[in-house]
Amino acid sequence: MCGSDKYFTTRPVSTNMSNHEDGCGYVFDPEEWEATHETAAQLPEKELDEGVWQCPHAAVEDRECCLFHLPPGEKDSDRVTAAFLDRVQDAGKRPKQFVGARFGSLSLEHVILESTDNHPIDLRHARIDGDLDWRYAIVRQPISFDGAIFRGATRFEEITFEGDAFFSGM
Ligand SMILES: [Zn+2]
Repeated sequence: MCGSDKYFTTRPVSTNMSNHEDGCGYVFDPEEWEATHETAAQLPEKELDEGVWQCPHAAVEDRECCLFHLPPGEKDSDRVTAAFLDRVQDAGKRPKQFVGARFGSLSLEHVILESTDNHPIDLRHARIDGDLDWRYAIVRQPISFDGAIFRGATRFEEITFEGDAFFSGM
């Protein structure tokens, strides 16, 4: 298991998933989220597959989930931040999806977040336990923090959003 989150469930084993066996096992279940949190789930039905959102990222070796869904205490924040920046630059919609991701601190001071296309950086329902320091960052992609939970300090001073930025349901 990747974590003990109440809303964490393991993807059901099914025979046609055999070519995804190294994929992250995290799924986001909107019904479960709403049952365990006081906020509404931000993923509409059309974005779900059999009622849940499935993580597109590769699992960490010997673990059932990816670096983004491992609990913060079991990973290095700098490594996660580097991987996050890497994935954001990848083309396509799925690589930029981090629904329900767990972060320790996320320092992107003076960083430019951009990709080769205009798919949003999807941090819906992400949970950031440490500090989020994005001072002087430039965010060229659309970005969504809808439903995200910030436990530490958030520093968005002097940040430039060049695309849409969504922060509802927090
Ligand atoms: Zn994952």
